[in-house]
Parts: sequence; C-alpha cells; structure tokens
Amino acid sequence: MAEINVVVLVKQVPDPASIKLSEEGTLLRDGVPSVIDPFGKMALRLAISLKKKHDAHITAITMGPMQASDVLRKCLEHGCDKAVLLSDRKFAGSDTWATSYTLSKCIERINPDLIICGMQATDGDTAQVPAELSVLLDYNMYSNVTDLSDNLRVTQAYEREIRTSQMKTPAVISVSRYNGDAPELSSMTDFLRARSMDIEILDAEALGLSYDKIGLRGSKTKVVKTFTPEIRKIETVYHDGSDPSNAVKILKEELNE
Ligand code: FAD
Repeated sequence: MAEINVVVLVKQVPDPASIKLSEEGTLLRDGVPSVIDPFGKMALRLAISLKKKHDAHITAITMGPMQASDVLRKCLEHGCDKAVLLSDRKFAGSDTWATSYTLSKCIERINPDLIICGMQATDGDTAQVPAELSVLLDYNMYSNVTDLSDNLRVTQAYEREIRTSQMKTPAVISVSRYNGDAPELSSMTDFLRARSMDIEILDAEALGLSYDKIGLRGSKTKVVKTFTPEIRKIETVYHDGSDPSNAVKILKEELNE
C-alpha cells in the first residue's frame, strides 16, 4: 500500500492527577503539570500503530501556548515524523469553532489522507473539534473509533453495537478507546532522537489567517458563566402501584414538584 499521510491532533491538558479547583470552581492551571489529553494519547498510539502496518508519515499538531511544545516532543519520541505548534496570543479566547478553523488552515497545507483525534479532551470536554474539522475540510467522519486494520477497515463501538466498515479517505477519526500494540513508553534512543528534531511553530500571520475568524473575535460562542452544579440528594418515595390510574396521578404530582 502507498504511503499514507496522517495528521494526529493532541491537546495539552492539566494532569488530571494534579488538578486543583479554586473556591469558585474554576480550574487552577498555575504550577499544574501538563500532559497529552488521554484520548489524544490513544489517538497517538493508533497513529503510531499505522507506521507498523503502512509506510505512514505522521505529523503531530497542537494549538496552544508555547509550553504545549512539550506534548509535541512526546509525540516525536513515540515515532511521529514531524511536529507543528500553532501558537499566537491572537488565538486566545478561541472557542471550539475558532480552534477547529485554525487547526484546519494548518491541516489544509499538509493535505493528509487521515486526521486522527481523541474523542474528547479532558478539560474542554466538548467532543466538537473532530466533527467541526470534518465539516471545515469536507472529510468523512468516523467517531467512537476503537481500531483500524491493515487495509483501513475501521471499527466503531457504540453503546449497543460494534460497527466495522471500509474507511473512505480523506477522513477524520475520533478515537474513544484503543488497546492496540503501539508502545506506551518510549526508549532512550527515541528520547534522544526526538531531542534533536525541530518543532515547527506557526502563528496567525504564517498561517495567513484573518483576525476576525480566530480567537475571541472568531468565536461563535461566549462563556456567560461557569459554575459547579449543586448536587441535591432526593429521597426515594415508594407508592403502592396496584391502582395504575392513581399511580399515574401520584407520579404526575411528584414530577411537577
Ligand atoms: P474536544 O473537541 O473535546 O477534543 C477532541 C479532540 O480534538 C482532542 O482529543 C484532540 O485530538 C483534538 N483537539 C482539541 N483541541 C485541540 C487543540 N487545541 N490542539 C490540537 N488538538 C486539539 N481555551 C483556552 O485554552 N484558552 C482560552 O482563552 C479559551 N477561551 C475560550 C472561549 C470560549 C468562548 C470558549 C467556548 C472556549 C474557550 N476555550 C479556551 C476552550 C477551547 O475552545 C477548547 O479548549 C478547544 O476548542 C478544544 O475544545 P475541547 O477541549 O472541547 O476539545
């Protein structure tokens, strides 16, 4: 099979083991170490597994602050061929649409056969970016992916069914689980090789982006308020259900309360 051109998207997120919340319930990021988002890690392993099966060329991309280059260095350690960091103060305040738009403009230049994403990132948690990318780039979309075979048969796991089909490229896949054989850890040789590789850094100007499509100005959603929902304990009440019409009446009253 000919070389397959792959982009893997990883996001830098606070290490869930070290997360702290302020009294107002917002995430405290200062001093919290960052890691590759866990679903992104599965996406990375799936991408690396393709290198064993095909002659795959893998570009890892992240959009974030300059320290997000750490997660790209990890991608290089695991075997990615190239790494690109999209970083610019003008990207600040981007919602998922502005993020996807920015990522899509970089991906367009690479013209990959396949874009591999995690299902959802652990901080933003919207699961919107992969689907938005498929719309922006006009790629086929496969969600809930758990495996991809040698001949690109894709396995998707839904609540009640597992679906296997022949993937049509170009495509975006979002990985919900991957238990394949790609290694979790990199060796010292991989580590040293990755240290010697360059990470390409692109800002809004280099990508030729118009400023009204990125950052806060390009965002279609606005955060009005963030809060931790109140958890209410509701006492369970048991009623005699032997008279169905009376049971319905009681239920309606209870639900209206
Ligand atoms: P999901 O869609 O849940 O992620 C799924 C997968 O997409 C990931 O596993 C990964 O493969 C890929 N992916 C997602 N994001 C990236 C990325 N950045 N790089 C590479 N791959 C990625 N966040 C900030 O950090 N700073 C801000 O100032 C900021 N302002 C915001 C303002 C608004 C109005 C809103 C709504 C959100 C803001 N956010 C901000 C959050 C930001 O929009 C999200 O973090 C981002 O769009 C990704 O969404 P998600 O985490 O829900 O990704």
